[in-house]
Amino acid sequence: HFFTKSLPKVELHAHLNGSISSSTIQKLIEYKKSRTVDGFDVPKEWECCMAGDKKMTLEQGFMIFKIVHTLVDDLQSLAMVTRDVVSEFHEDGVCYLELRSTPRANEANKITKRSYVETILEAILETTKKIDIVVRFLLSIDRRQSVCEAEDTVELAIEYKDKYDGLVVGVDLSGDPKVGNAAEFIPCLSRARSAGLKLAFHVAEVPNIVETKTLLEFSPDRIGHGTCIYPDKGGDQELVDVMLQAKIPLELCLSSNVKCRTVKSYADHHFKDWRKNDHPVVICTDDKGVFMSSLSDEYLLVAKTFSLSKLDLWKLSYDSINYIFEQNTVKEQLRTKWREWKDESI
Ligand code: 5GP
Repeated sequence: HFFTKSLPKVELHAHLNGSISSSTIQKLIEYKKSRTVDGFDVPKEWECCMAGDKKMTLEQGFMIFKIVHTLVDDLQSLAMVTRDVVSEFHEDGVCYLELRSTPRANEANKITKRSYVETILEAILETTKKIDIVVRFLLSIDRRQSVCEAEDTVELAIEYKDKYDGLVVGVDLSGDPKVGNAAEFIPCLSRARSAGLKLAFHVAEVPNIVETKTLLEFSPDRIGHGTCIYPDKGGDQELVDVMLQAKIPLELCLSSNVKCRTVKSYADHHFKDWRKNDHPVVICTDDKGVFMSSLSDEYLLVAKTFSLSKLDLWKLSYDSINYIFEQNTVKEQLRTKWREWKDESI
């Protein structure tokens, strides 16, 4: 674990509210208590925000996000969570982080989607002044939302793209894969692309050949999960061919997939299928809080499951730099850092 922790890493698939560690959840609960004048019973369901070591279903996973959202329902909590999540990734050896979150308005607490996004961006700027990590931000569209809400998110992303030192780099499409029709969002995602934003889509987390085909045809810049693309995993050969030909990089999250039971076992993870075909893959955490893992844990898991050497792991991490939503100058700076580390450590 010492090796995978000190290995410089790139994290490209991390949902903010899924990445909250149990210690930050505790802090949030204490904060809520301190703000309540007349007694406060900690709701029992908050305990399950820290139960991520267990296996669950995809549905249960989404229930946990709902509960976390009741805890992170004011701007102070949102800022605290952002600062902690960024710092924890840094402590785990992440040098470049792309964080994503779904802008949520909360009328009762006077939060607008705009103040939600600004609070996160401010907290990122504040934190990155103190520690050596590059952070970028993607605005998420939740597929359970209406097209109208998605359009608002895209407009916000476009507006913030050139503010806050270029922190906002893209748009993510996520949310419960069993709900809604992702194809409906294509026109507004198209608008995001024309405005110069990068696109990362959750694709094929559950078997759905028709939807997967539509999303792949749109050629997103990166794909999250891609669990059910191979024929033996609920996809078909045509989908595999599209992926291989277009070389769309995949963000792979082993613990998340196995703990939510969309993949049977680590050994069965589609990492091995894509790697066999020399397809670009990036190891990511997805929701390090909910699944109680870290990026260094995920690298260790990959190494143990698929017998990768230290050099293989370094290469896996080094190649991930190719797929970040940043300019070549940033990529080159990161590559230099990685090569220097390799010269000293392997
Ligand atoms: P947030 O966007 O509130 O910062 O992070 C939590 C949200 O991320 C969830 O409500 C969900 O929309 C999305 N999310 C987190 N993990 C997953 C995942 O594994 N699959 C999908 N499709 N969405 C996810």
